Formats: sequence, C-alpha cells, structure tokens
Amino acid sequence: MSGFSARVLAWYDRHGRHDLPWQRDPTPYRVWVSEIMLQQTQVATVIPYFERFMAAFPDVTALAAAALDEVLALWSGLGYYARARHLHAAARAVVARHGGALPLTLETLQALPGIGRSTAGAILSLSGHGRAVILDGNVKRVLARHHAIDGWPGQAAVQRRLWDLAEALTPQEHVREYNQAMMDLGATVCRRTRPDCPACPLRATCRALAAGQPERYPGRRPARARPRRATHLLLLERDGAVLLERRPADGVWGGLWSLPELDAPEALETQVQRRYRLRVAAARPAPPFVHVFTHFELHITPWHVAVREEPGAAEELAPVRRLWYKPGQSPPGGLPAPVQRLLRDWVDERRPTPHQERSP
Ligand code: SF4
Repeated sequence: MSGFSARVLAWYDRHGRHDLPWQRDPTPYRVWVSEIMLQQTQVATVIPYFERFMAAFPDVTALAAAALDEVLALWSGLGYYARARHLHAAARAVVARHGGALPLTLETLQALPGIGRSTAGAILSLSGHGRAVILDGNVKRVLARHHAIDGWPGQAAVQRRLWDLAEALTPQEHVREYNQAMMDLGATVCRRTRPDCPACPLRATCRALAAGQPERYPGRRPARARPRRATHLLLLERDGAVLLERRPADGVWGGLWSLPELDAPEALETQVQRRYRLRVAAARPAPPFVHVFTHFELHITPWHVAVREEPGAAEELAPVRRLWYKPGQSPPGGLPAPVQRLLRDWVDERRPTPHQERSP
C-alpha cells in the first residue's frame, strides 16, 4: 500500500464518516441511490430524502414498479430531476434485463441510464463488490491539488490524467474505506474554498499547499456567460384552487408538475382562453425573480390570474396532465423549486390572519 493511501486510510479511521444511512446495510441498490442523490447535493440535504426514498422503494423492483410521478414527488426539492428520471428508467431496465438485481460489473452498470464510470465504481466498491476506482468532484479536487494538476477537469486531457492518478493510487485492499475516505476528505477538509490544510493527512506531500495556492486547483471552467431566458408562470385561480399541469417528459423540469407557462404576457387572455377554455376576469404580475440552472438562468415573472370556466371546459381539461390544486392537498407529483415557492406564497396569502380568525 502506498504512503498516500495509508495516510488517507489512517485519517479515515479517526475522522471519516462511518454512520451515514447508506453505509448501514450498504447493498448495491442503496449505494446507487445515495450516489445519485449526492451528485451536486450535500450529505446533510440528502439524508432525509434518502430515508424517505428507501421507505417508499426498498429495492429495485419496488422502484421499477412505481409511477414516475411518485418518484419525482419524493425527489421534489432536490433539483436536477433528470437524476430521478434516469434512476427510475434504470430500475426498469434492471428488472427487464437483469431480473431485478443490479449487475455487478463496471461495463453493465455503465450501460444503465445515469450511471457513469465513477458512479459504477462507487456502487461496486462501497457495497463491497471488489476493487473499483472512483473520481467524483471531491476526489478530483484532492488529486488535482495534491499533484498540482493544471486545467479544468471537464477537459478530456485533464480528466484522463486524473483517472490515471486515481487508478494508480487506489489500493488493492480496503477499497471501500479508501474511496469513502477520499470523498470525505474532499468534502470536509480539502473543501472547495478555504481548505483546512493543517488538518489534512496529505499536507506533507501536497504540491498545491507547497506552492501556497491550494485554491488554484482544480482549474475553473472557462468563463462563459450564462444565457438568460425569460418566462411567465401563471397562477390561474378559480374557487380557491390553482391549475397545475404536468410538463412533457423531455426538457426543463421534464415530467414535473408546474404552473402554466407563457413565453410572453401579450394576449394573455386569448392564450388562456384558447389553451384552457378559461375566461380571464383579472390579471396582475407579481415581483419577478431569477432561478439559476447549470447552463442558463431563468427570469420568472409570476402572474395572478383570476379565471372563470367556460361552459364545457371541465371536460376538456385532460385529467392526467392537468388538475386544480387546493391548499392542503398533496402535490400530484414532483414540483420544481420555483413552483413550490410560488405555491407556498400563494397558500400563505390565503391563510387567515389571527385578527381574521378572531372575527365573528
Ligand atoms: S494539503 Fe490542503 S490542498 Fe492539499 S490535499 Fe490537503 S487539504 Fe487539499
């Protein structure tokens, strides 16, 4: 075992995380779900989601049998919903192709939706199914700093170097502990900003620290202005309820339930009438806000629109894709974060004030 991995393992014994929910009974399924949830999301946020998900879908077969709406509902608030859609599609593929048991080779795992090389390595190694290498964001940061590797890890050449290093440094034994240790080290000591180098087991050989600039590594993604998009979300209100509709499976917020959306507010009345067979009685914009995605920012203007139904409209609202949502009702499926926020504000506005409650 190299000095590098020995120091990492010794550190893990004393300072690593040993009692995360997915470390108890670390089956390939539980590790897989946790790894997908942990992409772009911190451990503390993931834990309650993971617990609820396991209670609802204790194994691959249960997940595959669930409706996508149920899965997205349990994912609501975690963001990056493509992860949930892939997880669900992969569970169905595991049932169809592998009889309901996750396959235990890197190649077959990577053939499933949403599982890349590092996730496949994590599933195998953390569930105790052999030596496999991982290279998630935390590990990339530790390796890039320790070896002072220039360049953005999104570039193929940098990525290749990091994989080569990860392969060379991963020990033959105690791989589960080593991989967990590297992730913990990146998350808790070699943090993106203000790394705690005095507490790091690798400080004696870290080149970035020796150069006095740990935060210079890994290199940043080349600056690119994030494109702006604008949209208008409509709170169509009727009899104390608002209209929700399910978005198409592809694209932004695919498969989630959302508020009706317009690209432009011009001819709002005509558009609402034509699309929903609803007559607009009054419409007013609410303060706009921005929701940031990885690749663009969405400038959202909410609208409060009081509507009345036209004769025959109710029959024409497709019930699978649209429904009237009332305060206190459970959401019909997953809701994007900005829609959750708008619905929460809308419900709060309708809550009687203490003064109103006391009134006769
Ligand atoms: S010494 Fe500092 S920069 Fe180097 S690996 Fe450790 S925490 Fe990261």
